[in-house]
Amino acid sequence: MADYKKPIPIPTPETQDFWDGAKREELRLQKCDACSAVIFPPRPFCPSCSTREVSSFTASGQARLYSYVINERPAPGFDAPYAIAIVELDEGPRMMTNIVNCEQTPEALVLDMPLEVIFEPITEEISLPKFQPAGD
Ligand SMILES: [Zn+2]
Repeated sequence: MADYKKPIPIPTPETQDFWDGAKREELRLQKCDACSAVIFPPRPFCPSCSTREVSSFTASGQARLYSYVINERPAPGFDAPYAIAIVELDEGPRMMTNIVNCEQTPEALVLDMPLEVIFEPITEEISLPKFQPAGD
C-alpha cells in the first residue's frame, strides 16, 4: 500500500460517496428517483431526464466482461502486460477497470465472462474497485 506509484483518485463532492463506499468494500451507484435510470459515474443530476432527484445505492458487485485491450507497453507504475477492461455491471452502467486474479491473456479473458468486484486499498482513504472472475 505504501509503494503505490500510479495516479491516486481525488474525491470530489460528486464522487465522495463512491469512494467512501469503496473504502467499506461497497460499490456505490446512483439511481434516478424520477425515471429509475442507473447512473455512473456519479453526478448531481440524471443524464436521462435532468432531474436532480438522484440517490445512491450499493450495487451487487456482479458484472460481465464487455471489452478490453491488453497493454503490452510498460508505463510508470504499471507492470505490462495488463488488461484495461470495460465491464458491464448487472445494474447496467459500464465501468473502466482492471481484471485481477486472472491471466492477462486473450485465452483467459473471455468476453461476457462473469466477474465480481473486489477492492484494492491503495491509501488510507482510497480503495480501488477491480474485478475478478466470479466464484473464485
Ligand atoms: Zn432520470
